[in-house]
Amino acid sequence: MSDLTGRCRCGRVSLRARAAPLSVRACHCGDCRKATGAPYSVFLEFALQTLHWEQEPSGVSCRGVTRRRFCQNCGSPVDYRDDRLPGQTYVLLGMMDEPELFEASDHAFTHEALPDVTIPEGKRRHPAFSVERP
Ligand SMILES: [Zn+2]
Ligand SMILES: [Zn+2]
Repeated sequence: MSDLTGRCRCGRVSLRARAAPLSVRACHCGDCRKATGAPYSVFLEFALQTLHWEQEPSGVSCRGVTRRRFCQNCGSPVDYRDDRLPGQTYVLLGMMDEPELFEASDHAFTHEALPDVTIPEGKRRHPAFSVERP
């Protein structure tokens, strides 16, 4: 597999992944909605050691043990980290140069999904987090 690459809207923030994402997950929670403006968000879970940032995002928005990073130049949301899940980061699908390669297997916070959002058949649904926090 060739490396996966991604960049923000303006290109200042860019990354290269040396391995496929560990998982692809959608989240319908209101916090993701506020952070991105989209009805729901799709995240690629990467082990930190497989990600190389050509340029890391300098913007960060913290809430409790979570950090959402964004490009301070163009505002693109970049990734999400949770201190309870060390060693990994969740990169927004929109960052990737080939987003069509990825499909979410799990949908989190389905109880908060908006009425006009259809979750495809066969996807795993989770009323709250799809990844257990310790
Ligand atoms: Zn940017
Ligand atoms: Zn969420």
